[in-house]
Amino acid sequence: MGVQANLEKIEANILATCDRVKRNPQDITIIGVTKYVTTERAEEAINAGITHLGENRMEGLHAKREALADREAKWHFIGSLQSRKVKDVINEVDFIHSLDRKSLAKEINKRASHVIPCFVQVNISGEESKHGLKPEDVFMFLDDIKDYKNIKVIGLMTMAPHVKDEAIIRKTFQELKALRDKVRDQSLKHAPCNYLSMGMSNDYHIAIEEGATHIRIGSKLVGSNK
Ligand SMILES: *Cc1c(COP(=O)(O)O)cnc(C)c1O
Repeated sequence: MGVQANLEKIEANILATCDRVKRNPQDITIIGVTKYVTTERAEEAINAGITHLGENRMEGLHAKREALADREAKWHFIGSLQSRKVKDVINEVDFIHSLDRKSLAKEINKRASHVIPCFVQVNISGEESKHGLKPEDVFMFLDDIKDYKNIKVIGLMTMAPHVKDEAIIRKTFQELKALRDKVRDQSLKHAPCNYLSMGMSNDYHIAIEEGATHIRIGSKLVGSNK
């Protein structure tokens, strides 16, 4: 299916979900995750009205951003980032969703030419295979990075476990939101933490119900070659 048709479906779902839980759909940003698809398909997403794009690898980000340089789009880096690769990518991304350790923060701070809005990735589900800080380590991490002038923590990010049980997915999102609220209540200058990046193709409706402000949608929007 074309991206336009997929987007219309997703937008209708977002509207219906927001209506149910009394949220303003304007508060939700769709990040079109183009990691599985070609530059042409990414451009189709832009043509359909998507203005935020997400990539999880440096190579994909470079190639698409360069090819689409004349198009209005913000680029989100959503994959795990090796510290030694930071210098190659940092000044080409508009947002990072995978800040999860001090060594990475230190390198971003050193290499960035301006303030980078970041989401701190939290491993709520505790799965070994997942990246992210343990929830109980988030406050210490935020304290560790408070003098890094080029990093602003605008929110938290998580990935739900890959399970069918909706209750488990929902609980993951609820826990991330509770943690976000706690951080936000601290009014930290370097970590206003207003946003929640959570929800993908199969669970974005649950994420919106639980407060997501940024949903990251790949396969249901642009398709996948998986
Ligand atoms: C691939 C990916 C997505 C999108 O996944 P879909 O299930 O295809 O929507 C979202 N977030 C991250 C971090 C990803 O790596």
